[in-house]
Amino acid sequence: PDASSPTPHVAVVAFPFSSHAAVLLAFARALAAAAAPAGATLSFLSTAGSIAQLRRAVGAELPGNLRFVEVPDGAGPPAAKGAVPVPMPRQMELFMAAAEAGGVKAGLQAARAAAGGAKVSCVVGDAFVWPAAEAAAAAGAPWVPVWTAASCALLAHLRTDALRADVGDQAASRAGELLVSHPGLGSYRVGDLPDGVVSGDFNYVISRLVHRMGQLLPRAAAAVALDTFPGLDPPDVTAALDETLPNCLPLGPYHLLLLKDTTDAASQAAGDPHGCLAWLDAHPARSVAYVSFGTVASPRPDELRELAAGLESSGAPFLWSLREDSWPLLPAGFLARAAAAGAGLVVPWAPQVAVLRHASVGAFVTHAGWASVLEGVSSGVPMACRPFFGDQQMNARSVASVWGFGLAFEGATMTRAGVAAAVGELLRGEEGARMRARAQELQAAVAAAFVPGGACRRNFDEFVQIVCRV
Ligand code: UDP
Repeated sequence: PDASSPTPHVAVVAFPFSSHAAVLLAFARALAAAAAPAGATLSFLSTAGSIAQLRRAVGAELPGNLRFVEVPDGAGPPAAKGAVPVPMPRQMELFMAAAEAGGVKAGLQAARAAAGGAKVSCVVGDAFVWPAAEAAAAAGAPWVPVWTAASCALLAHLRTDALRADVGDQAASRAGELLVSHPGLGSYRVGDLPDGVVSGDFNYVISRLVHRMGQLLPRAAAAVALDTFPGLDPPDVTAALDETLPNCLPLGPYHLLLLKDTTDAASQAAGDPHGCLAWLDAHPARSVAYVSFGTVASPRPDELRELAAGLESSGAPFLWSLREDSWPLLPAGFLARAAAAGAGLVVPWAPQVAVLRHASVGAFVTHAGWASVLEGVSSGVPMACRPFFGDQQMNARSVASVWGFGLAFEGATMTRAGVAAAVGELLRGEEGARMRARAQELQAAVAAAFVPGGACRRNFDEFVQIVCRV
């Protein structure tokens, strides 16, 4: 770029909880690389605690044109040693209250100071953090939100007022009813809607923030990045979003924007301290069930034991990512038996993207968190869904009834027999083979969208152009 003309300074605002900040950082790293030729610098805004965690996770792999900038967490001075930890929902409330009360604006000022006075020219950010819209407007910059969940969930948030007017207080009695009068939502039942749209606690911090976000997006966003790819969402979903939002850009799965070829042994070992990939190497193609419920959800102790027993009785080898505090809840002798027979490996954390791409993995038992669903389908792995909260029920419905590359557990709970049947079906059944074929079709659509010149690559290029305008 010409030295006399201003260069883009893009602020990227994170929602510093659960898997959100890590997804956005991966997105920002891809953006930093793509926007470097335009001379762009990026300021990644998150709380001190979240930044420390992200730094540990990415190590030295930060692009030179991306810097971290702190925003207030709203929690005040660090709690005294021994104090009761603040529950996650309360932390979210404190963060959002601070963001609304000028926290994002202060972050944009800090970003400007850290960039030697360079004005922020665009505010990109997790769509959850809606106060970024106002902060962007005050700074004279466009707001370009990044949606990190499914398109159908976004539609539900955009239509929350209409859905509440329709359903009223009958969410329970009408749970099985299809939402045919709501554009794009006709394949979903009232009971599939994310928590806090027509049922649950409307005052819960996430319910409030997605409601407000849904009201703001149509009028405040300059463009919206969608975590989906052409061929995934049914036409009515795409049409409903295009009608409501300016410049919808499907450019997901976001994890593929950054994916490097990590086939060399050294980089695999670095990301795989528990030896998951080597363990998978020792098993035949499509023989292993991979189990994970993401970064937040965890089954109740009785359900956890049913799952363990079901995996054992399925006879299939399994790789289970399970936080260590849950290990004592497993059935007596379970870990020892699994290890002795080489039949199962339980780890506190797995390199999930690489695991799902491994040829030995043939089935995925998942909570249907959006990143997990996309990681599974873009690797052609069919899944069994046990949704817990938030948008997971809606995603599970999509997987089982809209796309058909997986199934949902009966009654939305896992029993020993249900798990054994589901794993057996996905690995060896006829229906399972159809689900795998469907997943592989979509895997091919993802691959086509991500070749140079493919639809998601082009949409990402357009996204980069929009955010680099000065
Ligand atoms: N994940 C992982 N290893 C694990 C468990 C989870 O890498 O052992 C990653 C997974 O690949 C995904 C994210 O954590 O990218 C979970 O995101 P998702 O949206 O599925 O669920 P959430 O954690 O937000 O409920």
